[in-house]
Amino acid sequence: MTQMLAGRTALVTGSTSGIGLAMATALAAQGANIIINGFGDAAAIEAERAKLETNHGITAFYSPTDMTDGQAIAAMFADAATRFGGVDILINNAGMQHVAPIDAFPIDKWDQIIALNMSAAFHAMRAAIPQMKAKKWGRIISTASAHSKAASPFKSAYVTAKHGLVGLTKTAALEVATHGITVNAISPGYVWTPLVEKQIPDTMAARGLTREQVINDVLLEAQPTKEFVTSDQVAALAVFLCSDAAAQITGANLSIDGGWTAA
Ligand code: NAD
Repeated sequence: MTQMLAGRTALVTGSTSGIGLAMATALAAQGANIIINGFGDAAAIEAERAKLETNHGITAFYSPTDMTDGQAIAAMFADAATRFGGVDILINNAGMQHVAPIDAFPIDKWDQIIALNMSAAFHAMRAAIPQMKAKKWGRIISTASAHSKAASPFKSAYVTAKHGLVGLTKTAALEVATHGITVNAISPGYVWTPLVEKQIPDTMAARGLTREQVINDVLLEAQPTKEFVTSDQVAALAVFLCSDAAAQITGANLSIDGGWTAA
């Protein structure tokens, strides 16, 4: 069976864990070569990289690029051009969270979240778009969040960055619309990943709640289905956006949030 993305190369930022790893796996299953990126234990990352190759018969390469470093991002795309002849699919997914009230929000955390959750996508698009224009085809997908549409207290940097990421998505979509390139955002509600697990202690402190209260009364309270979204569900939407059926979806911010932002 011909795989939908055979011969394509996908770069997924923040794909050593969580949603990004699920996206990299789903794209590999469609035949795309994969550049994974992110931090973590070297042996665990190598095991994931090798698994992508063994399970899907594609080439997988690991780039340790720090996505808060614009120059390093440009160098990663130059390397991708040499290795793979350029990137066809860019998934801007690397992200982090910090939970604190604005008047106690650490300035270095603000700068880091704006750099990683928003500016990294600008640097990556800036480098990827010429490669995609040369191929007359491209897919750019950014993992935004329900927090690109609605705010929650104590997440000022995250909410600001995700709103900005959607503004960038719309602008890029307009700029490349006649080049066979689509640019979209996916906005999940709560997905059970290390990013969510790590913010539970801070949310407990900020709101004076127990762990169970944070899960049920803060996280799942926002989601009418009362269920977490899964990484595989988010990955399946990204694969659909890479299909020919999605060629006219561009500049969109697609919710996958159990009804959170309908309320
Ligand atoms: P995660 O913590 O499991 O994964 C984050 C990834 O980003 C990891 O691979 C990590 O190594 C990488 N990363 C962190 N700092 C980096 C840096 N400076 N340079 C390169 N890579 C870096 O989190 P996740 O939940 O899978 O989040 C992925 C994306 O999904 C984020 O953009 C997040 O905001 C978004 N999101 C998550 C949820 C959720 O509920 N989990 C909901 C909506 C949106």
